Amino acid sequence: MARALPFIGAGLLAIGLFAFPFLAGQNSYYIHLVQMMAIYAILILGLDIVVGYTGQVSLGHAGLFGIGAYGAAVIFHHYGLGVWPGLLVGVIVTGIFGAVLAVPALRVIGPYLAMVTLAFGTIIQIVINEWTGLTNGPLGVTLPPPRVVDFADWRSFWQGTLGLKAAEFQRLEFYYLCVLLMLVAILVVNRVVRSQYGRAFEALRDSPIACDCMGVSVYRYKVYAFVVSAALAGLAGALFSWSERYVSPNTYNFELSILFLLAVILGGRKSRAGPLIGAFIIVYLPNVLSDIELVRIMAGMIAAAALVALAIIALRSREKLVRALPPVILCLAFLPLTLNVNNVTDYRLTIFGLMILFVVFYLPDGVMGFLREVFPVLKPRHVTAAQPAAASAIFADRGLADAKTLLRVESVVMQFGGLKALDSVKLAIAPGTIHGLIGPNGSGKSTMMNVLTGVYRPTAGAVYLSQHRIDGLTPSEIAGKGIARTFQNVQLFGEMTAIENVLVGLHHTFRSTLMDAVLRTPRRAREEAEARARAMAILDFMGLGQFAGTEARNLPYGKQRMLEIARALALDPSLLLLDEPAAGLSAPDIAELVEIIRKIRGHGITLILIEHHMDVVMGLCDTVSVLDFGQKIAEGPPAKVQNDPRVIEAYLGGTVAEAAE
Ligand code: ADP
Ligand code: MG
Repeated sequence: MARALPFIGAGLLAIGLFAFPFLAGQNSYYIHLVQMMAIYAILILGLDIVVGYTGQVSLGHAGLFGIGAYGAAVIFHHYGLGVWPGLLVGVIVTGIFGAVLAVPALRVIGPYLAMVTLAFGTIIQIVINEWTGLTNGPLGVTLPPPRVVDFADWRSFWQGTLGLKAAEFQRLEFYYLCVLLMLVAILVVNRVVRSQYGRAFEALRDSPIACDCMGVSVYRYKVYAFVVSAALAGLAGALFSWSERYVSPNTYNFELSILFLLAVILGGRKSRAGPLIGAFIIVYLPNVLSDIELVRIMAGMIAAAALVALAIIALRSREKLVRALPPVILCLAFLPLTLNVNNVTDYRLTIFGLMILFVVFYLPDGVMGFLREVFPVLKPRHVTAAQPAAASAIFADRGLADAKTLLRVESVVMQFGGLKALDSVKLAIAPGTIHGLIGPNGSGKSTMMNVLTGVYRPTAGAVYLSQHRIDGLTPSEIAGKGIARTFQNVQLFGEMTAIENVLVGLHHTFRSTLMDAVLRTPRRAREEAEARARAMAILDFMGLGQFAGTEARNLPYGKQRMLEIARALALDPSLLLLDEPAAGLSAPDIAELVEIIRKIRGHGITLILIEHHMDVVMGLCDTVSVLDFGQKIAEGPPAKVQNDPRVIEAYLGGTVAEAAE
């Protein structure tokens, strides 16, 4: 049932939209409203990729919408080209601008990105206004009624059958084009976000650094997300210009961007129904609010719905009732509107304000988020479990590297301002060993790990992985060469399930493209099935099988640490770096961890282990290097290092004699 729900929903939507013109009795006004809703929904579906999935703010989407609209209008204005070329140009040109808009998103985040994208939108508007030769400037461009189909016979046959005038029929054609393209957009977005691309988008939102270190380039996938999002905005824009049959620069302004963003947030991010709800609200609300009778009916309906919801919630549980009261009371605030309002436009801003307040406070995940709370069947379909592959499929069959050293660190210096976090450190890691890296807090252990994985570029020195120099490469390139890591502060993809976290680690196993995802080719299906089976096997290996379907942020702390290791193993690394994996674990968990680390080494994976629990270090490591103030002060077998006076002094801050007492 729950699996079929999206299909049932989509089917009903399609039937409803196709039947609508006949139900609405060819009333051109209503048809036009639904058409607008479909057009906006296309854009909002795309905006949700950027906002909901990659977690970036864009106030530039009105600009992209404008580029799409002008793309279609300009080629008509100059070359007389119609709807279809217009859509094509709108999509392609806007897609390219999407890549441009992604550039700031690679450098800045949060409010700064909001400012930069806002500036982008403003610049686009100014360019449209000023570049009169191309865009006809402030006068805008007027378009004829759109012609979607050009077969005269086809036309006259249906026109006659439906008993419509030529203009009515032409309008209907365009309505169906918009509706159809919206349904296609839903399908495409759905497939993209549920593919490895969608997982990459979510991963870079939840932890960019971990995303990069799993070999999934944040840079590349942010650009992908913006390009797909922009292409949809361009499609919407091109449809918009033919729908309105007039474009002028003032339409594509800042308020429109805000309205789009509001629609995503109101409707609910990370869903396909959310953008439809959002589009419905932003298209219908202004129209509804200009009609006093409708406002009364709407306000009455909202108030009634609030009361019904209250009754249902009250029956379910008292605790929920207490939480539900404030929003319900807010809804009841609409009640006075049903009574005696003469000039409703006075209340327009009040209503918008109330809605925004309401959403920000009580529906942080929008209408869909709320519905999902109340009706759990509506919850998004996460990947929750799979049939595990044979355990042998987890690790590649790799003989130990022939070379004596797998990883060589040559006199690495890492300088932060005046502080040398690493001071000419040399390391040589033998293949197939567990190499301990210990030292007091702040001695540079995590910094070393960040240098090895490309998160920091060392100030001086070099790092070689089996003779290949790797310092200076990006984290995702280094991950691709076979170095995987965990983080001292757990860096999971919180909103994704455990198995999805591991699937991000398995991103490198996919060869299928965005097109494969959109067309759902057998190749992609096979890769996905293989990846899921392997992810499940890795989870089982880490003792996490039963948590496959749990969102990472809801796992107990100890399991989160284990999941980080599972995700790192998905890279099938030759070298695995663990940064304090036992920190915060209970004694039984530590014992389990030690066992697992042994098993990992048994599969031929070399490990570097940063750890404060001395029994773990002493029990596991073949060699231990000790750092203090960024310098290596001792190295050797654990037993020898343990008794090194300099190590004791560094750790205990006292002399050997004191420590012996
Ligand atoms: P630990 O051995 O505890 O893992 P770290 O490697 O985290 O130590 O830190 C070593 C030193 O480098 C500390 O003094 C820390 O403050 C400093 N440091 C680490 N990263 C940065 C950074 N990005 N900017 C400035 N200082 C840093
Ligand atoms: Mg550290």
